[in-house]
Amino acid sequence: MNRRTEVTTPEVIAEDQGAEPGLRPQRLAEFIGQDKVCEALAIAVQAARQRREPLDHLLFHGPPGLGKTTLASLMARELSVNIKTTSGPVLEKPADLVGHLTNQREGDILLIDEIHRLRPIIEEFLYPAMEDSQVEIRLAEGPRAQTMTMRIEPFTLIGATTRFGLLTAPMRARFGIVQRLGYYPPEELTEIVRRSARILDLPISDDGAIEIARRSRGTPRVANRLLRRVRDYAQVRAQGRVDREVAMEALALLDVDEYGLDEMDSRILKTIIEKFDGGPVGLTSLAVALGEDSMTLEEVYEPFLIQEGFLQRTPRGREATKRAYRRFGYALPDERTGGAQPSFFKE
Ligand code: ADP
Repeated sequence: MNRRTEVTTPEVIAEDQGAEPGLRPQRLAEFIGQDKVCEALAIAVQAARQRREPLDHLLFHGPPGLGKTTLASLMARELSVNIKTTSGPVLEKPADLVGHLTNQREGDILLIDEIHRLRPIIEEFLYPAMEDSQVEIRLAEGPRAQTMTMRIEPFTLIGATTRFGLLTAPMRARFGIVQRLGYYPPEELTEIVRRSARILDLPISDDGAIEIARRSRGTPRVANRLLRRVRDYAQVRAQGRVDREVAMEALALLDVDEYGLDEMDSRILKTIIEKFDGGPVGLTSLAVALGEDSMTLEEVYEPFLIQEGFLQRTPRGREATKRAYRRFGYALPDERTGGAQPSFFKE
């Protein structure tokens, strides 16, 4: 991916790693938006505290950058327990988890990110740990090796995934609480931008915050990242203050348009319109035409384009909507005679 495209990708990029921790809400009450989710979580936390029991196993799903990891650490804070984090793809064998599970104290949280990518052997190992607080440890390699059952402290597993559908049914069934995070409406994102600006000590006008929020693809991670870039611009060109105009100039330099579409989004939509006559086109063909990985297309780019009404998923494949045609100035399919062409060519 080139740098321009990266600005609005909802996934973590290198520059986020240093910057994110400071912007993370520290209490559940500071977490903006997702009201229903937060309310359900607050109730679950209070109930667990009153019963002096570990929180039920908890699953967060939804697109990247919406606050799954943040909520998991907030759970740990609210419950005053420790949290350890790992992720599906890095766990190769049960031994990679034994240390985590045997060192936990009662009620501690183990967060497994990308839990849909756990290997079956790890899942099998986790089930008895989640249900009966015990793990089976193999004492040697090979099919005949003896196993030993070991008790562990009851703990809470928090799973986070962008692909709920890829979770196995037995895994899904073991979560007592399942919460889906959706894209944030502009008002909530504006609130997030204001809060982050306060933390970064950056003066920002209301319309400046709104402008950044509108272009953040419904995603706090993107909002924070755009804010940091706008801050750089303001520092160099506008005496460190952000208003609507400064935000617009900075975002124009970053090639982020008024809908929050970036270069990759444009390429996706234009490819469907130009090369596939607006679709339907299968995901794999589209990925090949774009030279992009089909998983990334499906998980990172499509959800936003679908939510904003630029793209449709149909049983026969992906289709560009009328809104997409209009956005890029193409004549609608029923208006044109030949292949797809921007309408301004025909005038
Ligand atoms: P995910 O795990 O879903 O990919 P994260 O929890 O890592 O997302 O959140 C990404 C960034 O967005 C973090 O820097 C976090 O501080 C910020 N963030 C997410 N949700 C909120 C929110 N509701 N309020 C304020 N900041 C948020």
